[in-house]
Amino acid sequence: MKLARRTSRIGESATLKVSRRASELAGQGIEVIDFGAGEPDFDTPRPVVEAARRALAEGFTRYTPALGIPRLREALARRYAERWGAPWSAGDVAVTVGAKGGLFELALALFDEGDEVVLPTPAWVSFAEQIRFAGAEPVEVPTAPGDGFRIHAEPLLEAIGERTRAVLVNSPCNPTGGVIGADDLARLAAGCAERGVLLISDETYERFVYDGAAHASAAALAAELPETVVLVGSFSKTWAMTGWRLGWVFAPPPVLKTLGEIQSHATSNPTSFAMVGALAALEECEPDVERMIAEYQARRDLLIPRLNDLPGVSCRPPAGAFYAFPDVADLYHDRVVGSVALAEYLLDEVRVAVVPGAAFGGDDHLRISFACSRETLARGLERMAEALAALTPRV
Ligand code: PMP
Repeated sequence: MKLARRTSRIGESATLKVSRRASELAGQGIEVIDFGAGEPDFDTPRPVVEAARRALAEGFTRYTPALGIPRLREALARRYAERWGAPWSAGDVAVTVGAKGGLFELALALFDEGDEVVLPTPAWVSFAEQIRFAGAEPVEVPTAPGDGFRIHAEPLLEAIGERTRAVLVNSPCNPTGGVIGADDLARLAAGCAERGVLLISDETYERFVYDGAAHASAAALAAELPETVVLVGSFSKTWAMTGWRLGWVFAPPPVLKTLGEIQSHATSNPTSFAMVGALAALEECEPDVERMIAEYQARRDLLIPRLNDLPGVSCRPPAGAFYAFPDVADLYHDRVVGSVALAEYLLDEVRVAVVPGAAFGGDDHLRISFACSRETLARGLERMAEALAALTPRV
């Protein structure tokens, strides 16, 4: 059947492919240890569920304004004003169908055929796909394992050319766990402003930073550079609400207006009663969030030394997010070459699902999610040790 040409620019998300194969196996009654999933294993906090349940019982089940219910937009703006001194009010934010929906609408609103978007890599799979779907091209700027995949301003600014519309950074980063420091972020934003380029900051993992470090948010730069900063956030990870499909975008007025137009024709609005739950997440759930973050820290501290004990595996502790991104290239040899082959080997041999680094543009690596219980981590590591012992490291 003939499909639209633009669909040839995108493919199925490689991360979804692994989880599908893992659930196929699980469906056959085979126990798979899933390190592939990019979602919290926690239940959504009770106050969120209760608020949404009440909203349903009270009949809050109709269309809402396209950009979301005013109370939620106000609460989001207040959050950034209080934490980061952002000059934003309710009119500056769109509630979107996940951060993914917001990013997709941004791509459609901002990028034309032939435009370029500067992107540090390895990067989350959907960035490049969405950019291409809009007709533009990602310009990849590699980050390096040697300094924990930190994101630096200068190489990104150097990659800006005539056709660049935006620099898109994701800190903490999925899949690397790399972050950008406040100084680099400020230099990057100022450089983008000078060159008339937008800085899109995906802060989906903002709360997942470890060892007492502080997250650097582009919101802190919005007062000084209101025309430059676009910030994307999500309810999915922080509050364990992946299935609720809610995120947000702060953007300069003309961009926000266009997002509203696109959203009004694409989804009409985010789901009414889910937004009531999200309001409770912002207002009532800080203790739940802190409890979950402490658990992620403990999992990371369990996982990383054990990964480094595996033959041929080396991994720096990720500064943020909930993924380890170990270098496994020493394991590649004639039987198993490349991250796709190694991920398949682990799934086939010991029923451990991981995501090949190649999916993110880092073929020397695997992505291992620690959004699963410590017990699951320990069992998966045992299985990996068994499988990897059969592969002789190249060194
Ligand atoms: N940005 C990044 C970096 C992500 O990893 C994800 C989800 N894996 C998203 C955005 C999308 O999140 P959601 O649509 O669930 O809010």
